[in-house]
Amino acid sequence: MFWSAGFRRLADRLTVRQQTAMMTGLLCIATVGIVTTGAALLARKQAINAANLELAAMAHTMASRLDQNMLERYREIKNIAALEPLRSVWTGDAAKVRGVLNQLQSSLGDYAWLGFAVPDGTVRAATRGMLEGVSVAQRPWFANGLKGAAVEDVHDAKLLDSLLRRSPDAAPFRFVDVAMPVHGANGALAGVLGAHLSWNWASEVRSHLLQKYDSRLESDIWVLGRDGNILLGPQLTGPAPAAWLKGARSGKPATFRDTTGDRPMLTTLVATQGEGDYPGLGWIVASRRPVDVALAPANGLALTIGLLGTVIAALGSALAWFLARTVTSPLTRLCRAIDLIGREPGADGVQRQHGSRDLLQLSGAIRSLLRRVGSAERGAQEAKDAIRDVELRAEEQARASEEKTRRLGADIHTLRALADTDPLTSLFNRRAFLPFAEDAMNYFKRYKRDVGVLMFDIDHFKRVNDTFGHAAGDEVIRAVGKIIAGQVRTTDKVARFGGEEFVVLLRETDDAGAVLLANRIREAVENTIVTQGMAHLSITISVGAAMAGPQDRDIEDVIARADAALYRAKSAGRNRVVMVQPEAALTQAA
Ligand code: GH3
Ligand code: MG
Ligand code: MG
Repeated sequence: MFWSAGFRRLADRLTVRQQTAMMTGLLCIATVGIVTTGAALLARKQAINAANLELAAMAHTMASRLDQNMLERYREIKNIAALEPLRSVWTGDAAKVRGVLNQLQSSLGDYAWLGFAVPDGTVRAATRGMLEGVSVAQRPWFANGLKGAAVEDVHDAKLLDSLLRRSPDAAPFRFVDVAMPVHGANGALAGVLGAHLSWNWASEVRSHLLQKYDSRLESDIWVLGRDGNILLGPQLTGPAPAAWLKGARSGKPATFRDTTGDRPMLTTLVATQGEGDYPGLGWIVASRRPVDVALAPANGLALTIGLLGTVIAALGSALAWFLARTVTSPLTRLCRAIDLIGREPGADGVQRQHGSRDLLQLSGAIRSLLRRVGSAERGAQEAKDAIRDVELRAEEQARASEEKTRRLGADIHTLRALADTDPLTSLFNRRAFLPFAEDAMNYFKRYKRDVGVLMFDIDHFKRVNDTFGHAAGDEVIRAVGKIIAGQVRTTDKVARFGGEEFVVLLRETDDAGAVLLANRIREAVENTIVTQGMAHLSITISVGAAMAGPQDRDIEDVIARADAALYRAKSAGRNRVVMVQPEAALTQAA
């Protein structure tokens, strides 16, 4: 998670150009790394194999040359020992024997000493007279030579050392001995012919062989004895690792990397086999070459490949950078063009970008998108305009309908007023009066607030009509209505119930107050003169009063009781107020 987020952040900071160059560079470096490593490994393996083959060939050559040389020396001595004409010489004059030996030495240069010892071990004659008269009975070559053909391994000179060594600092003389029994003319054992072969010849064989190889390869050849002692090599003494001997004697050349020294060495061991009737001395030839030298060409190759690869990687990165720039610069242009849209006057589209098919497609798609967005915006604007239009019209209609409603309301109000009002007196009619009366009755029932009803009827009204005409009657009705409305409180309601009957609803007034008010109205009417034309009319009214009581079901019960009281007022003589109590007790006032 962390890595992927980190990678995203890094990727967002780098341009495609940088990323492409980087990726290509990395790819090239990885490729170069793999190829170089692979090539180096292969080359090293091959170099090692080649070096091993060469070392094996070198060791084989050295081994076979040693064997060949030894065989020749062996045969020389064997032939001389068996030479028929010399048979009588061995048993004859010592000076003669010495003469033969000196001659042999001068013709066969590798012999350091040739000598002839009689069977008791006394040297009878020798080259340059060395060791003559000395007993060699204890020397292995003599002892073995008595029994038959003998070859003795490399050893330091014992008796001859002081005679041959030129200076005490020089290396000790080393010999390989070849010894053969010698028989006299009579066929009896005359003694032993011994030859001390200077070990220097092996050294010369080695140098000769090494000269054939490039000295820069630092090849080296060692010769180890049967016991592991180094017979020929960097040091003259000291045993080689025991494992070497085992490996070398397995038959095949043993190849390995010797890491015992400061410098790892490729080493190949080949054992000498002997040749013909020469039995061999079990020497082992070790050919050696430093590993780093053997690997030098392989390393050089790897370095060359690596350098070449690095150059290719750099070129590849540069090419990728250039390619990415070619690909992305139209993209950048496109980006800038898009960025300017809507910011700069006239920047409302993008150019078609060339450079690749993808770019052509991308710029085409953006152009098409911009066209679509443009038409969508136009569509949206049109829709907005249409909505605004509808809204305006709706507002207008709402205003008109509001006005209509308002007017209608006014009309309704007027109509309602007309419906509620008595046209003659402008007082409430019965229909408008009743809701108020019901409301007051509810108040009475719930809160026990006093509610009373007064009912008025003009006395002998028929006479007015009959005497003064219907218009005078109307005038009288209007005058009475006015008197009643002028006497009551604003909270009290006055209504004309029809004909010349009026009803007053009293609130917050007890029965005494009601009777008092009724009388006051009655007296006001009595004292009023109604003028109609030439006539002056004087009239009276009778009043029935009733207060709401607990047994009343509704206001109608109260009105009915007031009506009953009015009837009684009429019956009692008119121009009076009668209150009927709920329990129907008659109260007469005035
Ligand atoms: P009482 O004292 O018993 O009331 O006698 P009255 O003559 O008034 O008798 P009643 O109340 O029965 O008579 C009512 C008369 O009122 C009958 C009718 O001709 C008259 N009248 C009813 N409405 C009107 C009206 O609107 N205008 C006029 N001028 N007369 C009306
Ligand atoms: Mg009446
Ligand atoms: Mg009347």
